[in-house]
Amino acid sequence: MSDDHHGSAAAIAAHVRHVEALLEERGLVDPTELDRALVAFLARSSPAGGARVVARAWSDNAFRERLLDDANAALPEVGMSMGGGLQEQRLNVVANTDTAHNVVVCTLCSCYPIALLGPSPTWYKSEAYRSRVVRDPRGVLREFGFEPDPDVEITVWDASAESRYMVLPRRPTGTDGLDEKHLTELVTRNGLLGVAAV
Ligand code: FE
Repeated sequence: MSDDHHGSAAAIAAHVRHVEALLEERGLVDPTELDRALVAFLARSSPAGGARVVARAWSDNAFRERLLDDANAALPEVGMSMGGGLQEQRLNVVANTDTAHNVVVCTLCSCYPIALLGPSPTWYKSEAYRSRVVRDPRGVLREFGFEPDPDVEITVWDASAESRYMVLPRRPTGTDGLDEKHLTELVTRNGLLGVAAV
């Protein structure tokens, strides 16, 4: 079953449509209801969601611990979840530190935490990024205009159908006085994927 991860997006989409048709045929699901659910899911999915999670983690150390320990269990505290799809995916939040930096990829296709970040950017799905970031993370990060210190260890996390990753960036210095709302505005999608500092 885990080999389904390697299937083409078109094959998966066709399979989903087939299942939808069966459910509709049996009167188990109303197609307009299904569309409404999908639109609602995408409408509440954008990098602003991930940024909110990060701002809370920066502001509340106990939340940060819970988030790193079990992200799925912690997300409802900020009104979010990894549900919304056919199955709830496991989210792993990986924290950057002075000495460790994290980057996210899906080497096989384009698995991505859509519930937290919205649809993935084109570069994330590109063959160039997927194949190169594992072999040469520093080279790829440099192309994004980001150069971690040479003594920082870089870990690349490979997402899958069941497991998704999000980076918890380091809180920028000089932001002690900022509240959660303003902290949220500092976080970028690229920072949540590890190809930017924040
Ligand atoms: Fe994938």
